[in-house]
Amino acid sequence: MKYYSTRSPQCTVTLDEAVILGLAPDGGLFMPEEIKKLPKDFFDHIEDFTPREIAFSVADALFGEDIPQSDLRRIVEETVAFPCPVVEVNKDIYALELFHGPTLAFKDFGARFMSRLLRYLIEKRGDGKNVNVLVATSGDTGSAVANGFVGVNGINVVILYPKDKVSKAQEAQFTTLGENITALEVEGTFDDCQRIVKEAFNNKQLKEEFFLTSANSINVARLFPQTFYYFLAYAQLKEKLAGMNWVVCVPSGNFGNLTAGVVAREMGLPISRFIAANNANNVVYEYLNSGVYSPRSSVETVANAMDVGNPSNFERLIDILKDHEGMKNLITGYWFSDSQIKKAINECLEQTCYLLDPHGACGYLALEADLKPGETGTFLETAHPTKFKETIEEATGKTFELHPRLKEFLKGTKNTLQIQPSLDALISLGVLK
Ligand SMILES: *Cc1c(COP(=O)(O)O)cnc(C)c1O
Repeated sequence: MKYYSTRSPQCTVTLDEAVILGLAPDGGLFMPEEIKKLPKDFFDHIEDFTPREIAFSVADALFGEDIPQSDLRRIVEETVAFPCPVVEVNKDIYALELFHGPTLAFKDFGARFMSRLLRYLIEKRGDGKNVNVLVATSGDTGSAVANGFVGVNGINVVILYPKDKVSKAQEAQFTTLGENITALEVEGTFDDCQRIVKEAFNNKQLKEEFFLTSANSINVARLFPQTFYYFLAYAQLKEKLAGMNWVVCVPSGNFGNLTAGVVAREMGLPISRFIAANNANNVVYEYLNSGVYSPRSSVETVANAMDVGNPSNFERLIDILKDHEGMKNLITGYWFSDSQIKKAINECLEQTCYLLDPHGACGYLALEADLKPGETGTFLETAHPTKFKETIEEATGKTFELHPRLKEFLKGTKNTLQIQPSLDALISLGVLK
């Protein structure tokens, strides 16, 4: 399969190049030349397959031209290693729980798939050189990438995060692992971390010497495996969806998850429409309503993994859906303030006994507001609620135990290096290998 850049469709690269480059040289995002439809027979019998078989069929359509079946099967089996149950929350509203992986958030899926795919590419190349994965994080990406990549041969991971600006629980998830994971505490903001990473990628010599790549949702190897769980959800819901239209609501920040959902639909999954749920960072909501896209700096909210002012995958959505008309016809936008989010967490718990996290709460609220007769809704519950313990306790006036896995992380020994916010400081540490 060839991959083209959203900014210059005539320039194409191979899968290997797309994964190592991350971003296209012209600043665009890579897209596959063809999104293959899965056969009718697959959908007719999807409920009879195991989650791994379903994910493998999807992976085969996406990556089967480039990766031998046996290798792809191994990569998928290591990825689909934890459940993603669909849970009924309220009448016609279901949560797709994506938080049963090691760091209790959906990013575990893509991070794990990408690490295994990179391992395969490194083994295939066989020159014994490392790949260096460099990521800036405000919390969740760092933990998913660290836990997805830890112990994987041939991959060296360097995580930059702003000192004193991520929660203790988040920090513990990427600073206590050791092995091939190095965490750098930057004397600066998240924007400084992101700037250093961008400067490193723009430094041609550095990029080639160290095989630098990124592991956020701009990378095709992180993004496309996120299609799997839309199919896994359908297999569980299929019977209940008979005669109904299926609406999928995605709490969105960089719009990677929503893009993966739209790709799943292009592959034939019967999703009738999408809802994009935002917090106060609502540039896509504004675009959907006005046709004008005006990115801006992000603002802080209680659903902080969605605090994004210039969503990187917007370009991919436009590429698939063509224009404002195409976007508007498939996607409805909603956004919610911090006080609405907290109120929803409390009310949903009282009325249904289901505990939402602040991101899932946006999804739930949007479905409550927008679901029409004849529609069944599913929102993505993107993180375990106790990852946001303070917010859910403030919202409900109750106390909650941290998930045992979070407690385990907090027991670990923090191991970081401190650096000034510059690329030179990063290079002189010698942590790229
Ligand atoms: C990353 C993240 C999101 C946003 O996902 P995008 O793919 O960036 O839109 C939502 N919720 C949680 C918990 C996240 O970690």
